[in-house]
Amino acid sequence: MKYESTITHLECTLTGERFDASHPHRTNPANGKPLFARYDLDKAKSSLTKESLSDRRNDMWRYQEVMPVIDDANIIALGEGGTPLLNADRLASEVGIDTLFIKDEGVNPTGSFKARGLCAAVSKAKELGQTRLTMPSAGNAAGAMSAYAAAGGMEAHVFMPKDAPIANKIECQAYGAKLTLVDGFITDAGQMSQQAAAELGLFDVSTLREPYRAEGKKTMGYEIVEQMGFEVPDVIVYPTGGGTGIVGIWKAMDEMEQLGWIGSERPRMVCVQAEGCAPLVAAYEKGEEFADPFPDPQTLAAGMRVPAAIGDFLVIRAVRESGGTAITVSDGEMVDGMVEMARTEGVFAAPEGGATLAALRKLINSGQVTSDERVVLLVTGNGHKYLDMLPEGVAQS
Ligand SMILES: *Cc1c(COP(=O)(O)O)cnc(C)c1O
Repeated sequence: MKYESTITHLECTLTGERFDASHPHRTNPANGKPLFARYDLDKAKSSLTKESLSDRRNDMWRYQEVMPVIDDANIIALGEGGTPLLNADRLASEVGIDTLFIKDEGVNPTGSFKARGLCAAVSKAKELGQTRLTMPSAGNAAGAMSAYAAAGGMEAHVFMPKDAPIANKIECQAYGAKLTLVDGFITDAGQMSQQAAAELGLFDVSTLREPYRAEGKKTMGYEIVEQMGFEVPDVIVYPTGGGTGIVGIWKAMDEMEQLGWIGSERPRMVCVQAEGCAPLVAAYEKGEEFADPFPDPQTLAAGMRVPAAIGDFLVIRAVRESGGTAITVSDGEMVDGMVEMARTEGVFAAPEGGATLAALRKLINSGQVTSDERVVLLVTGNGHKYLDMLPEGVAQS
């Protein structure tokens, strides 16, 4: 059976203005806000049924009707998605709840869930004739872009702060990307990437500055619901940087309701940020719609070191609409979370994954999560990529 994308158009996430999806767009030129891909979900509904899933491919392209690539030949697949939803019973009893799951994204190609977003974005860029890509990144996104560009025979340029984890620098070089180390913050790297894009005619695939990374990341939402037998968890705890994943999962919930997979029930979305870089938590606490840039961002979790997110209002909206919350954890708490998760469940998470466990403990202590609720921790990456960032003696206690 052949399944086809039902993409219809792109839509501005702030104003609803429509754009043609057959052209390479980035943001809405009028306001600089992200665009979302929209689909003919009535049409998708006739083939993307729960029953149809059993004979589909096992990667994230199994949801092809709600994915943006039209011609299969443009899909650059390395095995992204289809990650396990682990039953974390031992950890559940340690933290004092009945049902806890770990969505282990560390098993993706390139060791993080960035593979989902970049697989979708690089594949769609190829379909739209954009074969020379650029991106600023302090971490896993650059490695993922470089891998998919390599597999698609495309050119990749990466601008990375020089204090990024060693694994991220080496993997980009190994995949043949042109790596420029920047003496500054991710914002400085961003400026250099934009300049290179303008001068060399490169296509910038920074997150939410092009529409399709969110489409890759939304497949986590589809998988969680499918893996739970078409039920939604009560709470999803998400380590947030740019927020593409939390926004993508929230988008997936609406799509799945329209597909008839779920009803109006929704998980409470918990946005976790690092104490040293928490612009979204600050905006949430102040009741604001947009976030101010976070000064002097510091955290060892490179994926969460995002001082200003273009999709800020989308994250804050998802958190509020879902009845969730936004909280911070310290780097020390993240590392403790990593070690505890590794020892109780055999999952060596990135610090971002450890952050979700630290956050869950806080939510249980404050009564915001109760013992009868089903909780999913999003372990977004693999700890092996951060060995040089971890404090010495991390595992010796
Ligand atoms: C990028 C990244 C994050 C943050 O993801 P967003 O969806 O951009 O908020 C979290 N964890 C890891 C390991 C990452 O690489």
